[in-house]
Amino acid sequence: MIFKQLFDNKSSTYTYIISSGKGREALIIDPVIENTPEYLNVLKDLDLKLVKVIDTHIHADHISGLNELSKKTNCSKIMGEQSASEVIDIHVKDDEKIKIENIELKSIYTPGHTDCSYSFLMNDRVFTGDTLLINGTGRTDFQNGNPIDQYHSLFDKLLKLPEKTLVYPAHDYKGNKVSTIGEQKKKNPRLQVSSAEQYVEIMNNLNLEKPTMIDIAVPANIKGKLRV
Ligand code: FE
Repeated sequence: MIFKQLFDNKSSTYTYIISSGKGREALIIDPVIENTPEYLNVLKDLDLKLVKVIDTHIHADHISGLNELSKKTNCSKIMGEQSASEVIDIHVKDDEKIKIENIELKSIYTPGHTDCSYSFLMNDRVFTGDTLLINGTGRTDFQNGNPIDQYHSLFDKLLKLPEKTLVYPAHDYKGNKVSTIGEQKKKNPRLQVSSAEQYVEIMNNLNLEKPTMIDIAVPANIKGKLRV
């Protein structure tokens, strides 16, 4: 299997390129527009045919490369059905299968960071978007975020996956690349709560700055173009 985890320095975003092997179909999760040439190079080097691109949610901190990749390769653009993006070809619901050659992902609706946040399970690993981060969780104070929804996405869905499941988030700000569900259950400070109320209390008192890109990135990601 080809599995590449690429990092965008500016927004600390992880992008994933997945394929069952050289010369076969490929899928990209959470691309960043500025890195489109890099993704195209990887595809070319490995003779991959990009057929699907997924955004886990509408990003507020960078402009998605989804539309640009689709223009260049004609791949299908996928997001959850709750997404406000106007350029999506395939809207998935909870518990749907997304297939490319020899690879299957299962969508898991995990609202909370935004109301359109999805995670994607692929055999031994899960792409958690900004729902579950390594030793953190995505903020819930904008884009219809909701800490109670996030509590349920985490505790009723993601943390119910087998403990050895690998966790691949959409961001990391400290150089972590991968964790497991078991490790996050034990060590993630946000998950050491005994009730939904306690989780909401933590999330409502983070006092975070507004992301610098939000006023540009959100409309651009909804309209699928840079200037809106
Ligand atoms: Fe996000």
